[in-house]
Amino acid sequence: MNSKIIVKESKVHGKGVFALEDIKKGTKLLEYIGEKITKEEGLRRANKALENSKIDPTKGAVYLFDLNKKYDLDGDVPNNPAKYINNSCSPNCEFDVKNGRVWIFTKKNIKSGEEITINYCYSYKESLEHPCKCGSKDCIGYIVDPSEKKKLLKKIADLKASQGIF
Ligand SMILES: [Zn+2]
Repeated sequence: MNSKIIVKESKVHGKGVFALEDIKKGTKLLEYIGEKITKEEGLRRANKALENSKIDPTKGAVYLFDLNKKYDLDGDVPNNPAKYINNSCSPNCEFDVKNGRVWIFTKKNIKSGEEITINYCYSYKESLEHPCKCGSKDCIGYIVDPSEKKKLLKKIADLKASQGIF
C-alpha cells in the first residue's frame, strides 16, 4: 500500500484519495491497476452498471479506464485506491500510459491533506452525461477533456440560447 495517500470520504463525490504528506510536482504517485478487457466487454460492463444503478443508485459505479483503441482497464479490483480519485476541472495529477500500464503523476506540488484529483478526460460526446461538481474556479459543470472544452462550452451556450436562457 502506498504510504503517501489515504482513501476516505470526499466532499466532492463519495470516496476520494488524499495526500498524507507534502508531495512534490512530478512524483510518480501510484499505478491505476485493473483487469485488461476488450472494449466490447467494457461496454457490456458499463451497460450492466447503468442497469444496476436504476435499481440501486449506489451500485452504478464504473471504473473503466480507456487504455487504447482495443482495450479498457476495469479498475474495480481490490488494492486499486486509484479508482477513488475524483475528477477536477483543475486537477493536481495526471495519467500517463506507458506499455499498457497506467501511472498517476502529480502535476503540481501537493500539500498534506489535499485531495488528489485528475481530469477524467471524457470526450465531448460523453461529457454531457457526466456533470462535474468539483468546485474549482475553472469548473464548467461537466467532465470533459481539456482539448474539447471550447467545443462543449459552445454547445452549452447554444443549448441555453435555444431554451431562451441567457
Ligand atoms: Zn469541475
